[in-house]
Amino acid sequence: MRTIIPGVHTFTGLLAGRVYLIEDPDGLTLIDTSIAPSGRKILDQIRAMGRQPADVKRILITHAHPDHIGSLPELKAATGAQVIASSAERPVIEGQIPIPRVTPDKAVGIARLGLRPPSMTLKPTLVDREVNDGNTLPEVLGGLLVIATPGHAPGHIAFWQPEKRLIFLGDILMRFGNWIRLPISSLTCDMTENTRSLKKVSELNPAVVCFGHGAPLTENAAQIMRGLAQRSP
Ligand SMILES: [Zn+2]
Repeated sequence: MRTIIPGVHTFTGLLAGRVYLIEDPDGLTLIDTSIAPSGRKILDQIRAMGRQPADVKRILITHAHPDHIGSLPELKAATGAQVIASSAERPVIEGQIPIPRVTPDKAVGIARLGLRPPSMTLKPTLVDREVNDGNTLPEVLGGLLVIATPGHAPGHIAFWQPEKRLIFLGDILMRFGNWIRLPISSLTCDMTENTRSLKKVSELNPAVVCFGHGAPLTENAAQIMRGLAQRSP
């Protein structure tokens, strides 16, 4: 576990997909859950902080891709937490429809070669609460605002804490080492829409950016995001 700012931490040693932990007076919140076999590592790190799985009250989901909700069934069962996701991602999380993938008319980059994952329906987990653009989660970090950021996935959402200027960005951008880039085209439903979402969140001037992949960015974050938004198609 590594602390980003007081009360906001990230798990270590997960194979894919970054997971965040937020501490509030009423308990803990997870953001995303990593791939399927990560539940145990996540719970071990929570216990190492002196907390219990039942202290996790909420699991927030940025989008329903396997590297973000793979451990959701296991973590929901172990914690009893409320699962919170957008209306558009809900049927994917609940296993009612397959994961939406890029269609040939929207394909850019390597996606144009037809490289995209096979159709996949996820193991169902019930969503307890839907949140959409403009909703606030008052119980998290003194008020966490939900921002619709479609593109990578149709119902992708980011979470913004205005006083701390902290954003949980999901996969609007991905970070590999020091390389910050647009999400992988074959895994992104609509890159043009994703760029619009990137522009929208970069205008918030975030100071701390927590990616769905890679280490958080705490220096020149807004400037870097605006630069990428300007250069993006
Ligand atoms: Zn994704």
